[in-house]
Amino acid sequence: MSTPIFLHQVTVPSQFAPVDVLLEGGRMKFGAPAPAGVRIIIAQGMVLLPGLFDFHAHLREPGREDAESIASGTAAAVQGGFTGLLAMPDTNPPVDNGGMVQSVLDIAAKTSPIPVSVAGCITRRRAGEELAEIGEMHLRGAVMLTDDGDTVINPLLLRSALQYSRDLGILVGAHCDVRELSGSGAMHDGRVSYRLGLPGIHPCAEEIGIARDIRLAHSCRTRIHIKHVTTVRGVETIRRTKREGTRVTAEVTPHHLIFCDTDVGDYDTNFKVKPPLRTDEDRCALLEGVLDGTIDVIATDHCPHTEFEKNRDFASAPFGVTGLETALPALHHYFIRPGLLTWDMLIERMAVTPRRLIGQRPPSVADGAEINAVLFNPAAATKVKRSFVKSRSLNTPFLGRELQGRVEMVMLGDRMLHDASGVE
Ligand SMILES: [Zn+2]
Repeated sequence: MSTPIFLHQVTVPSQFAPVDVLLEGGRMKFGAPAPAGVRIIIAQGMVLLPGLFDFHAHLREPGREDAESIASGTAAAVQGGFTGLLAMPDTNPPVDNGGMVQSVLDIAAKTSPIPVSVAGCITRRRAGEELAEIGEMHLRGAVMLTDDGDTVINPLLLRSALQYSRDLGILVGAHCDVRELSGSGAMHDGRVSYRLGLPGIHPCAEEIGIARDIRLAHSCRTRIHIKHVTTVRGVETIRRTKREGTRVTAEVTPHHLIFCDTDVGDYDTNFKVKPPLRTDEDRCALLEGVLDGTIDVIATDHCPHTEFEKNRDFASAPFGVTGLETALPALHHYFIRPGLLTWDMLIERMAVTPRRLIGQRPPSVADGAEINAVLFNPAAATKVKRSFVKSRSLNTPFLGRELQGRVEMVMLGDRMLHDASGVE
């Protein structure tokens, strides 16, 4: 930022009253007067948040740059208020060795405006047959091990990975699914799938997987992170085992918090995700889990697919929706605005905890702190149309909708990464 910025009377969630914040030389200063030549923004009603971190993003590079690249995915992230993210390893070829970790980090260093953290596979080629080069990937900087997108079917392999994770201090992220139960299912198994004539995915597929993976981690005396929880009993299992002293953490996606199986409507493939959108009862249990701390992280599972792929019939279209650009405005629209979720809680679940889980220091919005911040305007709207989307893919369930609240600015150090102020 060549010109310092002065935010007049901005709301900071940790402060009782609005404050004046000067952003200059890479640092924030609270309560200082506006110096001459500064850009003044009347920020009454706007909220200054720490930069968010997405714990679950598929960036598709290398291999599927037609759907997304590290450059386009991180541009989408910035537009959504994220100043860091964790890239999943299911690229083509997959990130299953030290060289691949290095190559993703190298591309990110050249093309991403924000730091990209990298997850490596648990098994070689994500094939579930033998362990990937865990030690080598850890050395090159991988911060999570996961076969996300697939479950590790063989419990002995997962157990070995968990032992490595304990010794190396690297977190295992579990995609929980009993494949024999989920089979060729396309959506939640229930009244709606029967009516639409689509094969269902029974909640047991996920719940049994969650119980198994937590049990294995506990037996190895190590941590485990359960990805995208979607069911009442999944949340209950995590709550109970947390009380019993297991070192489990869990995440939920915005789409599972907002939508349920009835939203599939007329076979809309932008509502086809895995695990699937469940019932309203499940949805409520997920929100409860976020509120009582059973669920530690809200992560997008940003999963870009080309229009060609998503335009297929519901049963054969791929699973997944994008989420980086819409997560913050959508969570504001559906939960913060009606008072179901506080800013403090959102910051904890989307900026603080995900970074802590992989050993990174979370940013803060405080006097003297380094600038890593998002200016959010609850009074403006985000119109989710083609021209708004920075991702190379358009498979968002919010396409064509308007969400209340807008990311105005994203600032990192002395750089202005995103500036929508004044843009209609
Ligand atoms: Zn995923």
